[in-house]
Amino acid sequence: MTPRDREISPLAPQSHSSGFIREEAKEEDASSSSSKSSMKSTLIHLGLNRYFFFETVANAFITLFTSSKQPRGVPTLPRISKLSKNVVRILGGNPSPLTLQGTNTYLVGSGEIRWLIDAGDGRKRCQYGNALRLAMREHKVKRLHGILLTHWHPDHAFGVDVVRKACGDARLQAFKMVRKEKGEMAVARRTEEEDENEDGQGKEKRRHYVDIRDGDVFKCVGATLVAMHTPGHAEDHVCFRLLGDEEDGGDAVFAGDCLMNGSTAEFEDLSAYSMSLGRLLEAFTRSNEKLSSMKSNNKSGSNGEREDTTTTTTIQRARCYPSHGDVISDGERLTQAYLKHRISREKQFLRELTKFGQRGATLWELTRRVYGDIVGIVVLLMSCLKITKQHLEKMSKDGTVSVKRKESGNVFTTALSYLLAILSFGFFGASTKTRYVAVISNKHD
Ligand SMILES: [Zn+2]
Repeated sequence: MTPRDREISPLAPQSHSSGFIREEAKEEDASSSSSKSSMKSTLIHLGLNRYFFFETVANAFITLFTSSKQPRGVPTLPRISKLSKNVVRILGGNPSPLTLQGTNTYLVGSGEIRWLIDAGDGRKRCQYGNALRLAMREHKVKRLHGILLTHWHPDHAFGVDVVRKACGDARLQAFKMVRKEKGEMAVARRTEEEDENEDGQGKEKRRHYVDIRDGDVFKCVGATLVAMHTPGHAEDHVCFRLLGDEEDGGDAVFAGDCLMNGSTAEFEDLSAYSMSLGRLLEAFTRSNEKLSSMKSNNKSGSNGEREDTTTTTTIQRARCYPSHGDVISDGERLTQAYLKHRISREKQFLRELTKFGQRGATLWELTRRVYGDIVGIVVLLMSCLKITKQHLEKMSKDGTVSVKRKESGNVFTTALSYLLAILSFGFFGASTKTRYVAVISNKHD
């Protein structure tokens, strides 16, 4: 996909080239239509809506029930690492079984003003503000153009205010694909002039973002990033392609939570996620082709004066910078492995389901059978149930699995099912009433 015309260079006025100002005006029109919607708008403005409530409760739950240690078997990473001439990684300081070594955040560019990708989870104990300040000092970064968020999940987006505080800039803008239906608000990109004229009342609110659209371009000295909408893990998920220059050739991709190094990613929509993986694969393949053509040009036309930088001599394949885990040296290969893994998981689900015969299995039974030996109970509840459910939905659409709904039971079993639903955010409760039967097993029974 080629970059669209909406180019976001630092501090450039956006009123003519983008829909930011129009979108904000629309929001105000809607909110003034009645006192009820005005109240709703005020609550949303303050970030006090049910989605915010749910997100905060979910985050508290994760924090409470996961250890703050990285899982065994994943390598320990330094808090701050220079990964290439224009990428510095700063760990979010929030290791856990779900986040591995913690959320990776990236300073991108090579000048005094750079972009930051993702902001960590904002908890005090993560000490992210200090780490960011240190990294900026070490790499001579004076300020940020803005924060680019890959998606809304707490471990990526809740640290926005911490970044603002660390940079001493309360109006530093966060860019994200806006989920208006979830109470997030699109704001206009502020210009330098507007910044100077502000009286200090326009402090950014927590869920106010400059909307990112597919193909948006973010530039700074030493880097050009292009947004790629890659839903599936989350509906607003965006990867950023870092365009290679004449020196290093191939593009790299900041893959957010689409790809991880050390674990597979979870997703809320399997078909959207598979399409996003396909898109990433295409980006990596194109970049590798570019790299190999550059390599052959260099071989034939080299005059021996080429600068000996690590990027020119060691990177042969397009890199992937994931939000969790170390740098992936070959993004194309990992994406292919992810696609293959989903197919083999589907086969495994079907195999396990066949063992339950005509009786079928509940979501919980099947999840425990497939993942029970490899992850703990929290990951099982928070992540694996979702993955199994997505696979089963896809398989029932494909016709390889049939769904049997149980008649409602007596008062006691109904009450128990509701209690379990509350404890597991709905997944367990749903699972007790529905059984899945492998269609293949029917034929053999
Ligand atoms: Zn995520």
